[in-house]
Amino acid sequence: MASHAIDTILKEQRLFEPSDEFRSKAHIQSRAEYERLYKEAEENPEGFWANIARELHWFKPWERVLEWNLPFAQWFIGGQLNLSYNCLDRHVAGARKNKAALIWEGEPGDSRVLTYQQLLYEVSKCANVLKSLGVKKGDRVAIYMGMVPELPIAMLACARIGAPHTVVFGGFSAQSLIDRINDCGASAVITQDAGYRRGAEVKLKEAVDQALPQCATVQNVLVYRRTGCEVKMEPGRDHWWHQLMETASADCPAEPVDAEHPLYLLYTSGTTGKPKGILHTTGGYSVGTYITMKWIFDLREEDTFWCTADIGWVTGHSYVVYGPLQNGATSLMYEGAPTWPEADRFWKTVEKYQVNIFYTAPTAIRAFMRLGEQWPRKHEMKSLRLLGTVGEPINPEAWIWYREVIGRGRCPIVDTWWQTETGAAMITPLPGAIATKPGSATKPFPGIIVDVVDREGQSVPKGAGGFLVIKKPWPAMLRTIYGDPERYKQQYWSQIPGMYFAGDGARIDEDGYIWLMGRVDDVLNVAGHRLSTMEIESALVANPAVAEAAVVGRPDEIKGQAVSAFVTLKAGQTAGEELKQQLRQWVAQEIGPIAKPDDIRFTDALPKTRSGKIMRRLLREIATSGTVKGDTTTLDDFSVLTKLSGDEE
Ligand code: ATP
Ligand code: MG
Repeated sequence: MASHAIDTILKEQRLFEPSDEFRSKAHIQSRAEYERLYKEAEENPEGFWANIARELHWFKPWERVLEWNLPFAQWFIGGQLNLSYNCLDRHVAGARKNKAALIWEGEPGDSRVLTYQQLLYEVSKCANVLKSLGVKKGDRVAIYMGMVPELPIAMLACARIGAPHTVVFGGFSAQSLIDRINDCGASAVITQDAGYRRGAEVKLKEAVDQALPQCATVQNVLVYRRTGCEVKMEPGRDHWWHQLMETASADCPAEPVDAEHPLYLLYTSGTTGKPKGILHTTGGYSVGTYITMKWIFDLREEDTFWCTADIGWVTGHSYVVYGPLQNGATSLMYEGAPTWPEADRFWKTVEKYQVNIFYTAPTAIRAFMRLGEQWPRKHEMKSLRLLGTVGEPINPEAWIWYREVIGRGRCPIVDTWWQTETGAAMITPLPGAIATKPGSATKPFPGIIVDVVDREGQSVPKGAGGFLVIKKPWPAMLRTIYGDPERYKQQYWSQIPGMYFAGDGARIDEDGYIWLMGRVDDVLNVAGHRLSTMEIESALVANPAVAEAAVVGRPDEIKGQAVSAFVTLKAGQTAGEELKQQLRQWVAQEIGPIAKPDDIRFTDALPKTRSGKIMRRLLREIATSGTVKGDTTTLDDFSVLTKLSGDEE
């Protein structure tokens, strides 16, 4: 990293105020109210977070709010709670007893609804099943499932008895499962026969069978039957979910655990390299996910909330399961592929359940842009009132498309910046309070102290690009990398001494709005200018022919680095020399000649992680040497690489 951070070239001027109608019903209704909260939290962070924590149920109150030994934090010391209790028992005792907690849509079109009472019943039974298999407080449980209600049931059951879970994304291979199980020494695995994806079966139990000979710590496997496909059951080790649930007692009081008791560990999505096992603990994570859910998504009692993320990622943990359920909300879960059996499955689902709040990823938005407006236009989607995105910087044109075509110009958009490590959203508009600018995640959440700095930790001037840091501990922060506190220190707290830095570049504009600029490892150095990939990509995506773009640098004798762009086109566009020249000119005009791509390759798909993020480091290798030698374990579709490396300029 050079200490002169990142040059900015993107100029986005559009501003969208929330409507008076939206504002008047919002939890936080004005910029002034936000500023007041922010100031209050900044001046007295412990008081601010303690007030929020008091909205949850504690078996025993905490004695101290925070103990901070940089970089190790403890929150709500001495307090005892149980997250499963806060998600279930608390609501069942009141008017939400028969409210839908989970609405589930299976890929084949089957559907289930679980009320809070029903969910508590299932979770309590499952917790007793786990106990009967010898799972004790503190034991790690690996969960390798598709998007079925039994996945949150399993997570809540673990939380109920104080057994930290590690959810492994159901699309990962046996090898990824082995690595994760062995890293945390899980004693049990919860899985299912298979899941549905694009009309086919994903054989999960088979992958577990392949993995387990190399996982010495696993003693029991609990298998939920979803598709009914044939599976091998190893006597003594494997148990059918439905058989054990049948006889299990539904009486399982939630075990009070210390606030710092480990809740789960989860591996990052692996965009930059080998995934890291991030540890979250109970109290702080509960408080962070509870309040961000309430304020950012501006939850109302009657809302149907749909976060499309797979629960295998942190977004699913925080905003499919724990955030919504702590708030007594109705959370929608969908099992399968977004475009199955047709490209309007999401919009059909929005209509079917009258979804009010919809939260998805830029990669999905760009994919829908590519498929064309006709699919969402088939559905009215009048129920939608708020949209959200997370996972990557959203290009302003994709943001505008989301607003116009999905939100029909009516719904505010919350672009939420956060990470597996942060546990909960950190930089985001509060939709009734903050006017939005397309492509900006806007403002830090109250209590979150962020800055954009240079290598030495000095704030950079307004408008200049630099390293995004967090300067004070926050409740939902990771506590360590599992089993490796030294790496935790090195990775997050040493690159910029005394501050949390996890790899992203950003700038703050004259209104104090934060613009994420992508990963600093991806920054290009062209003739002495440090350019963010995100800005050049956004210029490309603003061209009507382009659906998605990834930009990387490759070595160039004269300029230091040349700009190499990989572009996918919208339906109906033709790739060719002419369009290449047009796009180069376009970028030169939009943001300046310095950013003009030296070469452009058209491709049907970009290499992405399983969570849908573009893997620029692989493209960098392709642009530089034509082949890929780096770690590809988290890559979604290997054939993309084969095609790209075969395709000579
Ligand atoms: P790894 O750390 O293993 O490389 P990862 O960083 O992709 O994987 P996650 O924790 O899932 O794993 O992703 C967090 C990252 O996603 C952020 O650091 C940022 O780069 C990106 N990101 C998430 N939300 C946004 C957003 N709203 N705007 C810009 N970038 C975002
Ligand atoms: Mg990361």
